[in-house]
Amino acid sequence: MLCIKCKQTAWVEVRRHHSAFCRSHFLDYFDNQVLKAVREERMFTQDDRILVAISGGKDSLALWDVLLRHGYQADGLYIDLGIAEYSDHSRAKSEAFAAARDAALRVVELEQDYGHGVKGLAQHARRVPCSACGLSKRYLFNKVALEGGYRVVATGHNLDDEVATLLGNLLHWQMGYLSRQSPVLEATHPGLVKKVKPLFRLTEQETVSYAIIQGIDYVPEECPMAQGARSLVYKEVLNLLEKHSPGAKHNLLLGFLEKGRPVFREVDNTELRECEQCGQPTTTPVCAFCRMMDVVRLREREPRSGQRGRRPHAAAPSSEAVMTTADG
Ligand code: SF4
Ligand SMILES: [Zn+2]
Ligand SMILES: [Zn+2]
Repeated sequence: MLCIKCKQTAWVEVRRHHSAFCRSHFLDYFDNQVLKAVREERMFTQDDRILVAISGGKDSLALWDVLLRHGYQADGLYIDLGIAEYSDHSRAKSEAFAAARDAALRVVELEQDYGHGVKGLAQHARRVPCSACGLSKRYLFNKVALEGGYRVVATGHNLDDEVATLLGNLLHWQMGYLSRQSPVLEATHPGLVKKVKPLFRLTEQETVSYAIIQGIDYVPEECPMAQGARSLVYKEVLNLLEKHSPGAKHNLLLGFLEKGRPVFREVDNTELRECEQCGQPTTTPVCAFCRMMDVVRLREREPRSGQRGRRPHAAAPSSEAVMTTADG
């Protein structure tokens, strides 16, 4: 297989585009896909301050790398989720990446600021860890960006992530989520910061290839909490489909964005107000994060499990409060 640009030996095949590239031309391809996404979806310009959500994994570090190489004003935000060695490991990789490029990395520690890591929050709130984690991350991305004067938050969601989310939303006809499924979420309230996903045109495998070529030292293992997440099942199904029909993922997502997004946007008539407790935009009087923290604080005051047996009517976890969806 030869590179379609220079006819040297190809290093990466991109079947959905009937292409193959040597290492150097693959980097051009990767950069062009990111810059095309930024330009066509009007994500940000060189004048905007961007906060990149960094997990220590390949996607977020690859995204930060591209933005820095192209001169964007991109700082990182790492949220320490308190997931034992996984968090220690990913934080160290993120800090080393930032130090090597002289880039600014903000760090928020869940445990220090909110009393618990993801596991503790989930246990107290009777949620699955990914639900407590997703809620906390969405809240903190917006809060930190707003307080730091950033115009945009950029996340490393790739084509595989986005198409798996789309499939999940379609399977359950989540009209609200479908109306907001987009690589760009505009700031529709003064308390909201714009959210963008510049890697949405690139696959997980392509980000791995980029990270390897660029020598990015990322955390290769998945978060241990991801096991059993439905998004992993959707990804498996989509990989099978892609194997038999190259381009299926790309066509599903890009087709939705072109033809489905305008239709589903019509149903998005959510009205935002300010949370009575923290002031962040929400559709309910108190935002979901503050409600979760209220439950956590309430349950913290309950006797510990060892003492529970002494109570005649010890409360079992409420099944109503257990969220069943989870995305990594
Ligand atoms: S898998 Fe993702 S969402 Fe779930 S706990 Fe880990 S980092 Fe958070
Ligand atoms: Zn080449
Ligand atoms: Zn709130």
